[in-house]
Amino acid sequence: MNFELTETQTMVQQAARDYAVRRVGPQAAELDRDARFPVELVRGLAELGLLGVNIEEKWGGADAGVVAYALAMMEISRACASTAVSMAVTNMVAEVIQEFGSEAQRRGHIPKITSGEHITGSFALSEPGAGSDAAQMRTTAKRAAGGWVIDGQKAWITSGTHSGVFVVWARTGGPGAKGISCFLVDKGADGMSIGKPESKHGLRASTTVPLGFDECFVPDDALLGDEGGGFKIAMMALDGGRVGIGSQAVGIASAALDEAVAYSKEREAFGNPIAQHQAIQWMIADSGVELAAARSLVLRAAWLKEQKHLFSQEASMAKLFASEAANRICNRAVQIHGGYGYIREFAAERHLRDVRVTTIYEGTSEVQRIVIARNLLG
Ligand SMILES: Cc1cc2nc3c(=O)[nH]c(=O)nc-3n(C[C@H](O)[C@H](O)[C@H](O)COP(=O)(O)OP(=O)(O)OC[C@H]3O[C@@H](n4cnc5c(N)ncnc54)[C@H](O)[C@@H]3O)c2cc1C
Repeated sequence: MNFELTETQTMVQQAARDYAVRRVGPQAAELDRDARFPVELVRGLAELGLLGVNIEEKWGGADAGVVAYALAMMEISRACASTAVSMAVTNMVAEVIQEFGSEAQRRGHIPKITSGEHITGSFALSEPGAGSDAAQMRTTAKRAAGGWVIDGQKAWITSGTHSGVFVVWARTGGPGAKGISCFLVDKGADGMSIGKPESKHGLRASTTVPLGFDECFVPDDALLGDEGGGFKIAMMALDGGRVGIGSQAVGIASAALDEAVAYSKEREAFGNPIAQHQAIQWMIADSGVELAAARSLVLRAAWLKEQKHLFSQEASMAKLFASEAANRICNRAVQIHGGYGYIREFAAERHLRDVRVTTIYEGTSEVQRIVIARNLLG
């Protein structure tokens, strides 16, 4: 077993760390305060190849693999979880098109994603009435001359205000998963409307919007993969997406632990730095162990995906553990800060708000347990 990173992985990690420390981190608190989408930072990610880390070079990607992608996500998330979620979903959209798209679809979209021309890509699966149970979606796509007409609503779409391309799932057949197909919809498509961003608890610099489809016409070549094969595409994409969100959780938690360690050495109570009180040491020790375990699980799932092994169960385990552990770690970081952990002046407060959603999106913790139990029980 080799725990060493390759030269390429180290390079990607270093490039992401340097960008995160120099450019992303210094802006994170302000972006959060103003709930401002970080367009310039996302463009910078494109310049570094970080919008297509696992995308072939011929499409403008870095072709550095899944482990490098996870490492880069950890670095960007340490600095700004909002910027990181745009990066995660955009990489996921590029990968979906690379994996399931026709040559023309790849040529038409992936270079625009990796270069930053599209700014971001969006993944439109969830609906107001169908999140965990996405197979119950009600958005429809009906055949029309030369294409399809999409009607319905999507909810919670990350980066939807800025994306140049949307991967949209709609019902083309009967009920259940088999009646679902997947489409590539360009920004500005007639009949597609982008709603007002939600006012969120955390990830405030990332936009999350509803989408409306009112007789939205898309041409025949917008169909991604086979008619009726859309649900499988969604589930496969989400397996990879869980590696991304697990990495995001690890990144946020490592920032929170760093803050907690630094603060505990400075703050004095009862005549000593609080780091000398055993209760504080135990919290720091528990956070260190959980962070290391989360990181290992996430990198293992990334490695399995990169080696083209089955990785669905490992991705769910990694996402479940990393997101739950990261919530505990960020919560402890606030506790270690005392009252100062509860105010915006200290980053621990933002980390706790940002980390909360990691147990909810890309499949809730309950959904991960369903996937894991199904695999274990056969
Ligand atoms: C900030 C943010 C960004 C998002 N970005 C995107 C995006 O870009 N694209 C996209 O498509 N979606 C996105 N989502 C949607 C997200 O994936 C869903 O919110 C999530 O899948 C949960 O769906 P729901 O909100 O409808 O909750 P529900 O499915 O209604 O679940 C409610 C509760 O019931 C539990 N539950 C449901 N079914 C079961 C069961 N069988 N057994 C046990 N418990 C169960 C859930 O775990 C949860 O605790 C985003 C959400 C947020 C908050």
